[in-house]
Amino acid sequence: MTSATPRRWPDLTVGIIGGGQLGRMLALEARRMGVHTCVLDPDQRCSAGQVADEHLVASFSDREAAREFAGRTDVVTYEFEHIDASLVAEVEALRPVHPSSSLLKMVQHRVRQKQGLQDLGIPLAAFRPVDTWQDMEQAVHTLGLPAVLKTATSGYDGKGQAVLHRAADAESSFQALRGRSEMLVLEEFVQLEKELSVVCARDVHGKMACYPAVENIHVNGILDLTLAPARVSPALAAAAQELAGSIAQKLGVVGLLCVEMFLAKDGRLLVNELAPRPHNSGHHTLDACPTSQFEQLLRILCRLPLGVTELTTPAVMANLLGDLWVSADGGLDFAAALAVPGVKLHLYNKHGVYPGRKMGHLCAVAPTLETALSRALAARAALTGPKSLGSGDSGYTDTPVRTAAERTEHRS
Ligand code: AMP
Repeated sequence: MTSATPRRWPDLTVGIIGGGQLGRMLALEARRMGVHTCVLDPDQRCSAGQVADEHLVASFSDREAAREFAGRTDVVTYEFEHIDASLVAEVEALRPVHPSSSLLKMVQHRVRQKQGLQDLGIPLAAFRPVDTWQDMEQAVHTLGLPAVLKTATSGYDGKGQAVLHRAADAESSFQALRGRSEMLVLEEFVQLEKELSVVCARDVHGKMACYPAVENIHVNGILDLTLAPARVSPALAAAAQELAGSIAQKLGVVGLLCVEMFLAKDGRLLVNELAPRPHNSGHHTLDACPTSQFEQLLRILCRLPLGVTELTTPAVMANLLGDLWVSADGGLDFAAALAVPGVKLHLYNKHGVYPGRKMGHLCAVAPTLETALSRALAARAALTGPKSLGSGDSGYTDTPVRTAAERTEHRS
C-alpha cells in the first residue's frame, strides 16, 4: 500500500468500488459533507453512480480501468466483497484502500475467514473445511447432523447453502454445491435464540467506535428486520460489542467491520461472518445515530475524528425487497407508508426488479422499540394495501422466526 497521505478534507475524492445501495448511501453522505466520490461499476445505471460525482463504467476485472480509477481518487473503499482481491491490491499499490485488500481476501473465502478467526481464539460454530467427498463423510461423522453445508465463495443472502438433516442429504447437497465453489464448509447447525450484529469503526490510528448491538431477523436467508437495540440483557449487548471490537482490533481493520453473530439457545455467542464494509444491519444509523455508518466510514477515509455511535432513539429497519413490487405490480402506496409516524423511506432507485432484490428500506423510530417495530411493520404492510396489514407478510412473529438454513431445505 502506498503511504501517501490523502489530501485534506473536503478537497478529496473518495473512490467506491461497487455501485449498489451501500455505495449510494455512502455517496449521499459524502455529498452532504462536500466530499467528492467516484464509483467504479460496470452498470451505467447503477444505484450509486446516480448520486456520485463521477462514475467510471468498467468491469471489475478491467485492470487498466482500475488503474484509471485509482488515478481519479485519493482514497478508496469497496461496498461489496465479490471482487477480485488482486484487482483491489493493484489499486492499493497506487492509493490507500480501506479496509485493506488482504482483509478482503481473508473474508471473501468462508474457510479462510473461519480459520483466521479460529486462530485468533474467536468463538465460532464448529466447522470442517470440505474439499473431497471423503472430507464430507469425515465432517458429517465429526459434527453430526443436522449441519449446514455452505460454499466457501460467492455465498450471500443465504445463497449457496443447504441444511443436512439425514445422512442421505449429504451426498445430494455435496453434489449440488461442490460445483459452485472451489471449497465447501460444513458447520454445526446452531439452535438460534437470536441473531445479532455489531458494526465497528476503526481509524488509521487504531481508535475505535462500535455501534450498539442490533438484533436481526432473516427471512429466506435475507435480512428482513433489524431491531436497534437488540432485545438482550445489557451484559450480553456489551459482550457482543466487545467481541466485535476485539476482532476489528486483532485484524487491524481500518474502516468498518460488521460482525454477524449467533446467540445460541445454549447461551453461546458465536461469530457467523464478517463484512468489511457498511452493512444492511447498520442502515438505521442514518436515522437513529448522530453519526451514520456511512459518515463514519467517510470520516475514517478522510482522516477526520470518529463520530458518536450511540443510538439516540430505538429504531427498526425493514427491508423492501423486489417481491413487494412484483406482488403489487409496481403500485406501491408510499403515501400510506409515510403516513405512519416516525417512518423514513429510503429507495435505491435500482433498475430492474426481481424477488429477493433489495430495492429500499424503511426505518421507523419511536420512544420504545416495541412501537418502532409496530410502526415499521405497519408502514411496510401499508405499501401493499390494507389487506396485507397484519397478514404477517414480513415473516415476523413473536415466536422465533425459522432460520434461513431451516428454510433452505424447502428451496433445495
Ligand atoms: P450466512 O450466509 O452464513 O450469513 O447465513 C444466512 C443465515 O442462515 C443466517 O443469518 C442464519 O439465519 C442461517 N444460518 C447460517 N448458518 C447457520 C448455522 N450454522 N446454524 C443455524 N443457522 C444458520
